[in-house]
Amino acid sequence: MKFATRAIHVGQGADPTTGATIVPIYQTSTYTQDAIGVHKGFDYSRSINPTRVALEAQLASLEEGAFASAFSSGVAASTAVLSLLSSGDHVVVGDDLYGGTYRLFSKVLTRFGLEFTFVDMTDLAAVRSALRPATRMLWVETPTNPLLKLVDIAAVSEICDSHGSVGGARPLVCVDNTFATPYFQRPLSLGADIVVHSTTKYIGGHSDVIGGVAITNDTAAAEGIKFYQNAAGGVPGPLDAWLTMRGAKTLAVRMREHATNAQAVAEFLESRDDVERVFYPGLPSHPQHDLARRQMSGSGGMVSFVPRGGVERAHAFAPGLEFFSLAESLGGVESLISNPARMTHGAIPQEERVRRGVVDGLLRLSVGIEDVGDLIDDLRRGLDSTR
Ligand code: PLP
Repeated sequence: MKFATRAIHVGQGADPTTGATIVPIYQTSTYTQDAIGVHKGFDYSRSINPTRVALEAQLASLEEGAFASAFSSGVAASTAVLSLLSSGDHVVVGDDLYGGTYRLFSKVLTRFGLEFTFVDMTDLAAVRSALRPATRMLWVETPTNPLLKLVDIAAVSEICDSHGSVGGARPLVCVDNTFATPYFQRPLSLGADIVVHSTTKYIGGHSDVIGGVAITNDTAAAEGIKFYQNAAGGVPGPLDAWLTMRGAKTLAVRMREHATNAQAVAEFLESRDDVERVFYPGLPSHPQHDLARRQMSGSGGMVSFVPRGGVERAHAFAPGLEFFSLAESLGGVESLISNPARMTHGAIPQEERVRRGVVDGLLRLSVGIEDVGDLIDDLRRGLDSTR
């Protein structure tokens, strides 16, 4: 079965009790048992719920993984993955990443004895030298949020293989695949052990539900994540699971449109002399354009750029657009614009942020699937009126 077929059919069989063609929203917290301990496999909805099970089967299949656990948010999924580690363990993390992941790692999980080293993962030598005997995980975001840098997943996985073979346990490679989606990039097939998503974004696709998922082929990791899902309880409700599942059915068609529109928007921005820099893996000027072509089958829908005129112009431009709503988040059918420094990445101290290249005037576009001519006209009007 090919990707677009799996998105619509895996986990989506007719309901066994009624024949309903669409998986029902099993809005129930509990299940009546025939005798004590005798039931149909469902006992309590924190532990298991049929709508969530259907979503998990669908998303596992899209990432070509055997196991998936769905969560109430992307950061809940990330926390579940980190729950596989113990106090004293060390994690190497890419230094350009979603601000909320940075906050979770640096402000919460360090208090439980995990240690994090942030490195520029585009530099494989830096990754290699950050590994320690206690390193148990590499956390990779690619493309990164918000600078759209790429990390070579296969190369990073190989570094972990050789680290394992010199004595230590092989660190797990976890890839946050939120930006690329499995339509354009499948990290498990490139050597990664675990994939996480904020399903709030492209997988849900309509900016109407918060969710997350962790997917793996590693039985031990899957068991640990499933155990944590039940033990800590950050599960999506049945309606949220259903909305996410409905969105994911159209992932293939949406991603094709997002990428076509984003490419045109990136090329338009690059053609403007009042734009200082454009970040998009589909542009030949992107420093890792070749890796993008090797590792991804499309460049995604996110474009970042720095207009000339400093932070004042960026702040004047962003709220004045007609079709790009000034809003956090990304991956919905509608276009959004954000200023990472003041919005999504505000949790990272300014000095640290600027050191990583997330300058105050940086703007990030989530290019939607509206008519691309309308989107470009909107950006042109905004740039001309703030010149
Ligand atoms: N990972 C990435 C790349 C994100 O952009 C986000 C949210 O913006 C998250 C994870 C966290 O997801 P959520 O907001 O669903 O908790």
